[in-house]
Amino acid sequence: MTTRASRTTTGRGRLYDSVVDTIGDTPCIRLNHIAPAHVRVYVKAEFFNPAASVKDRLAISIIEEAERRGDLKPGQTVVEATSGNTGIGLAMVCAAKGYPLVVTMADSFSIERRKLMRFLGAKVVLTPRAAKGVGMYQKAKELADANGWFLARQFETADNATIHENTTAREIMADFAGDRLDYMVSGYGTGGTITGVARVLRKERPTTRIVLSEPANAQLLGSGVVQTRGADHSPAASHSAWQPHPIQGWTPDFIPYVLQEAVDHRLYDELVPIAGPAAIEWSRKLAQREGIFTGISGGATLAVGMKVAEKAPAGSVILCMLPDTGERYLSTPLFEGVATDITEEELALSLSTPGFHMDPA
Ligand code: PMP
Repeated sequence: MTTRASRTTTGRGRLYDSVVDTIGDTPCIRLNHIAPAHVRVYVKAEFFNPAASVKDRLAISIIEEAERRGDLKPGQTVVEATSGNTGIGLAMVCAAKGYPLVVTMADSFSIERRKLMRFLGAKVVLTPRAAKGVGMYQKAKELADANGWFLARQFETADNATIHENTTAREIMADFAGDRLDYMVSGYGTGGTITGVARVLRKERPTTRIVLSEPANAQLLGSGVVQTRGADHSPAASHSAWQPHPIQGWTPDFIPYVLQEAVDHRLYDELVPIAGPAAIEWSRKLAQREGIFTGISGGATLAVGMKVAEKAPAGSVILCMLPDTGERYLSTPLFEGVATDITEEELALSLSTPGFHMDPA
């Protein structure tokens, strides 16, 4: 009897001219073990992007739209303030397209992020964490003004939400065509994902409830306190409701202009705060019980998705955005308690057969 592997693949049916052409078309994956049985929960796994986060979409949009408008000249330096994923995405795009990149980043974000950007050829200028997101931003602006560099402006540019309207949302529409989609769950950093996706859902799937989340200890939207901004729409000051939180990439210390559209046009139906420990717990569960490896913000989104799921009518379909990979958090609280050396249980396993024992000392 001959056996045949039951899984086969056929290739993508095309050759790619550049890594940037592989951005987007990320899969929506069903959860089979950790979701309540009366609903279907899917995650949109943005870590399938080439630099492993949702921000690859933003990066290619900002660079290509600036090229089209003539705002970015060949070989001109790009500068941006970023908590990491935008910097990594921009570093990938800038390397592929031949632009030098300088990133300003508070020293509170994970070491992996700095090293990844530098590995991709970018310069990383650290700013004091006490100066928060506003400090990072002002430093990027100073450097742009002083050197004639192109400032990417992820928090203000229209090229942010537009790419999610034109790609992320289209993918969701196509993948759920002919199926239910009762809830879409997301957090916000710049607000690009939620604003772009919600523009399309509101028009084309108006019955889908849009659930937005923010950290329980930094409820900027929940507070109802409006954000003050300058003439260029950048934040004039830190928001009074902000506190340091562990959900990297979510909720900077101001309400971004890109997100303001979602607030003003009521692009979400519910605002559900989530605490850091729940985010970490659900990221771990997702890894260990579903084999899906996402960061803290993905865990936070899933934690909210599970709250929604518990109360959702039978048969409901829920989609949670997973912005990035868990590999970006090896030095953060996400991996706290994950052993480096052999554990007691593993040692017992090792000693249970005669050969190849490690000396526990
Ligand atoms: N999670 C992580 C880890 C991120 O880096 C970002 C982007 N800053 C987000 C979530 C939020 O995405 P958006 O900026 O589109 O709101």
